[in-house]
Amino acid sequence: MARDWRTNDVVIVGCGLSGLTAGLFLLRRGYGVTILERRSSYGGLCGTFEMDGREFVIACNDFGQGLVRTLEELGVPLRFKSKKTRIFYGDRVYELPLSAGTALRLAPHMRALARFFLGLRRARRAGEGTRSLGEFVDSTVGRCEAGDLLKLPAYLMGVRPEDFQLHSLWDEFQYDYGYSKPATPVGGPQVLADTLANRFLAGGGTILLSTECRNVHTDGDGYTLDTSAGELRARAVLSTAERTDPALPGSKPGLPVSMFCVAVSKELPYPEEIHTLVHYPPGISDWFGKLDSGVPSSEFGFHLFRSELPEKPDHYTLNIYFYLPRGVEEPEGAYVQQAEDYIFSHAERMLPGLGKAILYKRFVSPRMFSQRHGLSSRVTPLITGPGIPKADNHDAGTGLYYAGNSVFPPGDHAGAAILSARISAGLIANRLSP
Ligand SMILES: Cc1cc2nc3c(=O)[nH]c(=O)nc-3n(C[C@H](O)[C@H](O)[C@H](O)COP(=O)(O)OP(=O)(O)OC[C@H]3O[C@@H](n4cnc5c(N)ncnc54)[C@H](O)[C@@H]3O)c2cc1C
Repeated sequence: MARDWRTNDVVIVGCGLSGLTAGLFLLRRGYGVTILERRSSYGGLCGTFEMDGREFVIACNDFGQGLVRTLEELGVPLRFKSKKTRIFYGDRVYELPLSAGTALRLAPHMRALARFFLGLRRARRAGEGTRSLGEFVDSTVGRCEAGDLLKLPAYLMGVRPEDFQLHSLWDEFQYDYGYSKPATPVGGPQVLADTLANRFLAGGGTILLSTECRNVHTDGDGYTLDTSAGELRARAVLSTAERTDPALPGSKPGLPVSMFCVAVSKELPYPEEIHTLVHYPPGISDWFGKLDSGVPSSEFGFHLFRSELPEKPDHYTLNIYFYLPRGVEEPEGAYVQQAEDYIFSHAERMLPGLGKAILYKRFVSPRMFSQRHGLSSRVTPLITGPGIPKADNHDAGTGLYYAGNSVFPPGDHAGAAILSARISAGLIANRLSP
């Protein structure tokens, strides 16, 4: 298949959130855009899949206000709901964003929290963004309940607190990601991806599903992409696949998520105002530290959420995420059983009646996830070493552009991915403009 390259000002590799967002920004600037996607559906990590006749969320599910604003700006018609995260810590329960009950429960920790936030302001002014959250909390607050709660952002990103750098806390505000007020799309993540894709198609873009890009080369006059469906020509190429060059010293891969996919009777009440329920045992630096160094831990955190998918007659589905020790991609049956016993005994307190309401339950290991989706379940794909910035959005050597969580700006969530898409689309548009 040889195409007229003038119809492909830009070819984008990958039809996840960053590919679709970059495509929409480029269409708006008047360029012809084709997106290639090796999977057979839109959205990459943002979507759903069917397993044994039930629909489950693939990976991402809860977003920030930055994404909501960007979609509004692009004219993507979607509704979001604001929901809370409920954290079960020992015998206490906290909620984020703060509820009145949580504020009361935090009252005994006010002095510790004030020490932390004042220290954080000083650290920011002093340019100490590469200090680790773990070390910083231990030195300002100590190893205690308040300290564990302050380390929660590290757990949510799948990173041990000692590897989570302080600047990630203020990047949230610097880049206006808006995760302090989370938003879930009505209809779930596949609706989000499909609505973006439909907007892109309606604007004149082309999407080639089940089409893999195998190689890209330049002849000085443009780019030729070797794909599973033949050759394509383009004036510029934007890749949303993970950028693995240059090697970033002191960096290591994040831990992949393991999950239980669960279907429960529709009769089981799920709290309307809550998206995520987190089991967060005391001592995260110890238990996450063990997992990160490849050692099993008898206590570990996990979180679960109800898929916000359209109603089914008799059930709804839940995903339960947790981390196995580093290096374990496919655990043995006995290990899975232990994890299952631990998780479901604690989950009963978080969602009373869960055990009796389960209609279906299946474990998905990191390896099964990769095999099934052709994607990685690492929430943080690469934990960069202190002071090491993410790779650039443009490779001056090859001329290729990049978007997604492996490149600028900092952050390992959909908010950062779509901001990188916007930045790369802007660079491409400026380069192509006459
Ligand atoms: C388990 C998990 C939970 C998460 N939860 C959240 C959350 O709740 N909120 C949040 O904000 N973020 C979350 N994230 C992060 C979020 O999923 C990502 O930031 C976001 O989806 C990245 O979008 P992307 O388009 O850059 O990448 P992807 O979604 O990975 O899309 C890249 C696409 O490129 C395609 N592709 C790659 N190579 C080729 C090729 N050679 N040819 C053709 N196609 C190719 C892939 O098939 C894929 O569809 C989560 C991540 C994980 C793993």
